[in-house]
Amino acid sequence: MNLMLYNTYSKKKEKFSPLEKGKVKMYACGPTVYDYAHIGNFWSYLTADILRRYLEYLNYEVLLIKNITDVGHFTDDDEPLDSNGEDKMEKAAKRDKKDPIEIADYYTQYYEKDEKKLNIKKPHFQPRPTREIDQIIKIIQELINKGFAYETEDGVYFSVQKFQKYGKLSGNPLDKIKKGARIEINENKKDPADFALWKKKVGKNRRHSLHWQSPWGKGFPGWHIECTAMAIKYLGDSIDIHTGGEDNIFPHHEAEIAQSEAYTQKPFVKYWIHTRHFYIEGKKMSKSLQNVYTISKTPDKRYQSLEEMGYHPLIFRTLKLQSHYRSKANFTFQAMDQAAKNLKNINHTYQVVKTSKFKKNQKNSIKINCDKVIQEFNQAMNNDLNCPLAFSALLKFVKNINKKLTTQKNLSNQKEILKTIEKMDSVFAILKKNQKKKTKIPKEINELAQTRLNARKKKDFSLADKIRKKVEEKGYEIIDNQNTYQIKKK
Ligand SMILES: [Zn+2]
Repeated sequence: MNLMLYNTYSKKKEKFSPLEKGKVKMYACGPTVYDYAHIGNFWSYLTADILRRYLEYLNYEVLLIKNITDVGHFTDDDEPLDSNGEDKMEKAAKRDKKDPIEIADYYTQYYEKDEKKLNIKKPHFQPRPTREIDQIIKIIQELINKGFAYETEDGVYFSVQKFQKYGKLSGNPLDKIKKGARIEINENKKDPADFALWKKKVGKNRRHSLHWQSPWGKGFPGWHIECTAMAIKYLGDSIDIHTGGEDNIFPHHEAEIAQSEAYTQKPFVKYWIHTRHFYIEGKKMSKSLQNVYTISKTPDKRYQSLEEMGYHPLIFRTLKLQSHYRSKANFTFQAMDQAAKNLKNINHTYQVVKTSKFKKNQKNSIKINCDKVIQEFNQAMNNDLNCPLAFSALLKFVKNINKKLTTQKNLSNQKEILKTIEKMDSVFAILKKNQKKKTKIPKEINELAQTRLNARKKKDFSLADKIRKKVEEKGYEIIDNQNTYQIKKK
């Protein structure tokens, strides 16, 4: 059976067949690093990781590019027709009193740390637009030369009228887009639906701290052109798969198609894969509802982290496996608790089978059918990455092993069972394969940590902080959970 993927462009499931045999060129829209990435962001990045891992499981050679946006993403770029907001990076720089590059580096580090904890494989390249300005300028210049873009007093704009297929991805025909246009603030644009490729350092943007010299004077790129430039530079004119969140479809990805195809005159992307919205206990995630969760603890009081609440990042990954990327996902703590149980169960069974010494040639030995579960796994994953079904096959398999172990106690195909679980886990990535030996923590450090916990409970944070520093000086780190702690060697 072939891999079938739902393509947002054609609005149907299609048989996956890459442009070049055996190879997959894949681009994933990455984070704009102006704040801590939250679990909603990771929900979509996890889809890309599962897809990449599954393609590798099918023996494709995958080349994945995932960008980091560090300039030009405006607060209202996600809305259809305007670009009169404020650059998210510049806004964050003002908020945190740092320069935008420092901001980008800081949040990138956090984001990478969380990706690692979630077992999200690193992309092959992680380009940043501030380092790709030449490529961006080259494409914009060519778009002007070809008549798809025009210069105004405040920037360079893409003329959507010139691109016949504008609206095909989102299903928004141009006249509908225009009808829905808000009152046009920018009088320089020929058409309200036109979007910025380059913004000049004039008017409200005159104080924009990041800027570069260009044929149109000093300025900086718009968000949409950045992804086009990076995708083409690292993957070529036509790519196999482009992923992103559902909210990226319009205008971001619609704009990417227009720019890229106008520039190369070739089809840009073969398969568009989008992850549906993510809700928290049935509600939209928002700072005002105080339901924005991060993976790791952050110094920012606006966010709670799953780790502080006692949830290991891989519990979140397990939760993701239990939901289809195209269904409306509802995050609940009840579901997290269930995911935690499943994760524990799978890891426990794997360890038991791995560490057991089964006797050979015993009469009562039993063989577990491994082909069946792989078949179920393949079938489910091939059907537009039906992870919940594939995962339930693994759960059933594990349950069966446990049942057999309690009655028979002797399995004849131990190695095959382990390999089968590991094979599925090359996609799921939730197994703790090499359980590290616990480092012995000196008594003194344990005592300090306990005293610190007591101080925290009494809300004596200055004492708690002093102790933390002392522990760190001695080469250990305390990781706080709600009413407990963990000690790690640094
Ligand atoms: Zn993008």
